Amino acid sequence: MEEDLLTPLEPWICSKIGLEPNVPLTRTSLNDYQLGRVQATVEQAHNQSPFYREHLAGTGGADLRTLADIARLPFTTPADILADDLRFLCVSQSEIERVVTLNSSGTTNKAKRLHFTAQDLELTVDFFRHGMSTMVKPGERVLILMPGDLPGSVGDLLTQGLARLNVQGIIHGIVRDERAAIAEIIAREIDCLVGLPVQLLGLARHAEAATIPHGRIKSILLSADYVPAAISRELERIWNCPVFNHYGMTEMGLGGAVDCMARCGGHIREADLYVEIINPATGQQVPDGEPGEIVFTTLTRTGMPLIRYRTGDLSRIIPEPCRCGAALKRLEWVKGRLAGQVLLGGKYPVSMADLDEALFPLPGLLNFRAAVARENGIDLLQATLFTQGGPAEKLCRLAREAMENIPALQMALAERVLKIAPLLISAQNWLSSGTIKRTIHDQRETIVC
Ligand SMILES: [Zn+2]
Repeated sequence: MEEDLLTPLEPWICSKIGLEPNVPLTRTSLNDYQLGRVQATVEQAHNQSPFYREHLAGTGGADLRTLADIARLPFTTPADILADDLRFLCVSQSEIERVVTLNSSGTTNKAKRLHFTAQDLELTVDFFRHGMSTMVKPGERVLILMPGDLPGSVGDLLTQGLARLNVQGIIHGIVRDERAAIAEIIAREIDCLVGLPVQLLGLARHAEAATIPHGRIKSILLSADYVPAAISRELERIWNCPVFNHYGMTEMGLGGAVDCMARCGGHIREADLYVEIINPATGQQVPDGEPGEIVFTTLTRTGMPLIRYRTGDLSRIIPEPCRCGAALKRLEWVKGRLAGQVLLGGKYPVSMADLDEALFPLPGLLNFRAAVARENGIDLLQATLFTQGGPAEKLCRLAREAMENIPALQMALAERVLKIAPLLISAQNWLSSGTIKRTIHDQRETIVC
């Protein structure tokens, strides 16, 4: 164990779960704490939330003897929240400090809303403070390339957390103009960048990024539900600084798991979240190390606790101990979303993550869009590459080669159940897609009139 590597989340969680100072965290103490909190959350939800009173009826929810017993409780799904978020509340609406509205991708006009009390928001600020201490030092400045105008927004909460570390958080917002973001990095002498993977790749590959003094950027935090490894590697190469990943979603209270100095999987904020990995087809829990869907239960939320919430994100718990010596569990970097997979030729699954890893290493590529259509009875993969100039022909050739080397595509092409359409190049506003969930659009069911 390398002492100075230890994730700062570990001492923080020790104190949160009530261990005496200098008592090391053990899985036993954490399991005891989590079991107590799961029991309390189930009781609170059952007593105070109209949704859970009905949802948990007859499950003997209060009779959880071990953490494994949680498998007896039903899942909560995004559709449940979409149907009626207010029925989830465990407090009166006047106690809700912030409501976050998430645009749903479906055909309904309904939006998914998450409710947080002031106490819930404080949990997030506290997590940001401790998580960020991995990568920033007092006196440094962090440029936040995420939304931050509203009180309780991710940028606002992050700024509050950083202030407790004597670090200045400066909210830039989502990047709409790369030149303006680069100018701000230089003018404000920024040490650390926090943003969305594709947006930071766009900045790093912009011609004017060369004007940022060498060594100016000392660390980067990529925050998303899914970070392509190819983008992390490329940012490390271009800016020559460590790139940390954070996995989280609004439903988790924004924060979920963050890299330690070893940067090989995110340590989960286990005092606030109980995470399970399940087989998405059967709903059964899988052992540590096996891949599956991330399901979580909130342990400390007061406004709108969630029990066994299905995230749709695919990952696994890394069973080997972390080099930093932490007892906290590590989540492998999310491999994409269940909903994002398409079956080529009816049997070869390919996801946006597969395309990301193949295409983002290509020089000059800023982003891309992909779709699968049907033509003459076989699947047709169409892609548009976003770039800011450079030789288009070469990029197209390299992109086609990279795609043909993805195993699923290779097999589908060999079996002649797939064709790759001529690739399109576009220099238009690629930045606008920075906040939209990137996915392969499946147009095979679309009827052309
Ligand atoms: Zn670690």
